[in-house]
Amino acid sequence: MDSLKPLLDEIVADLRARTDKGRVADYIPQLAKVSADKFAIAVAPLSGPVVTAGDADEPFSIQSISKLFTLTLALGQIGDRVWDRVGREPSGNAFNSIVQLEHEQGRPRNPFVNAGAIAVTDIILGGHRPKEAIGEILRFVRFLANDDAINIDRLVAQSEQAHGDRNMALAHFMRSFGVIQHPPAEVLGVYFHQCAIAMNCRQLAQAGLFLAANGRNPLTGFNVVSSPRARRINALMMTCGHYDGAGDFAFRVGLPGKSGVGGGILAIVPNRAVVAVWAPGLDANGNSLLGTAALELLVQRTGWSVFG
Ligand code: GLU
Repeated sequence: MDSLKPLLDEIVADLRARTDKGRVADYIPQLAKVSADKFAIAVAPLSGPVVTAGDADEPFSIQSISKLFTLTLALGQIGDRVWDRVGREPSGNAFNSIVQLEHEQGRPRNPFVNAGAIAVTDIILGGHRPKEAIGEILRFVRFLANDDAINIDRLVAQSEQAHGDRNMALAHFMRSFGVIQHPPAEVLGVYFHQCAIAMNCRQLAQAGLFLAANGRNPLTGFNVVSSPRARRINALMMTCGHYDGAGDFAFRVGLPGKSGVGGGILAIVPNRAVVAVWAPGLDANGNSLLGTAALELLVQRTGWSVFG
């Protein structure tokens, strides 16, 4: 991994020089004010220190990357019964689309579109007050990253709440089919807070390590999930982790990955490392434009694609 630092520096220099940086998410003011010039990359190997370049210690809104952590938590709570409520197929639709729900009796296509993630959050809410569920998710993310400094950006959470009509509609629609069981306002209260978790690339890469190491976090020695479960979560990231850009991401990067509209992407290199990138400008599918380009360069240079 010694040769990695110069390579990451090279990638940062290359991407910082590009003029088309994509469009920063502007559906809430807290995201719209983030500079499109930010760029960070961190690689956490299975052993040894995290290697970083760019703004890797600056926290950003993880947004939909949180869906990966809540899925893992819900699978830990109720096991494969999660799949009674949520499917495992790519959506081919926008992240916040409602159309498929009508065709499939309110059952979301996968846990990484908004509807699916809201259904997963409803599972985590089972038997808890919303505040406790938020606490549980935050504690789990801190446990994964082995870092208690991770927090929720309250302003982002409040803003999400104020602009949450579409997500609220998804939740009401699913509740009408019995797919979610708690009042939509409670489920979304938790969902908006999970989206508002702020992490830097170093923390994010560490939080993903269990997925690269057959379910065991090499930092702490804890078994987070079984090896088959880690493999399956990786499969879902590959097929569904980038909304309707998942095919293109597999084609260009070839790693299981999950993106968020804050501009972050978490990518898993099984049995080797975890890569977190952050570039706030998005492409038309809501995935980080330069983050994807950075991963593409990294994989070209390292040969890390899972497709050989
Ligand atoms: N908070 C966003 C939403 O629910 C998350 C979307 C994303 O990161 O893709 O609309």
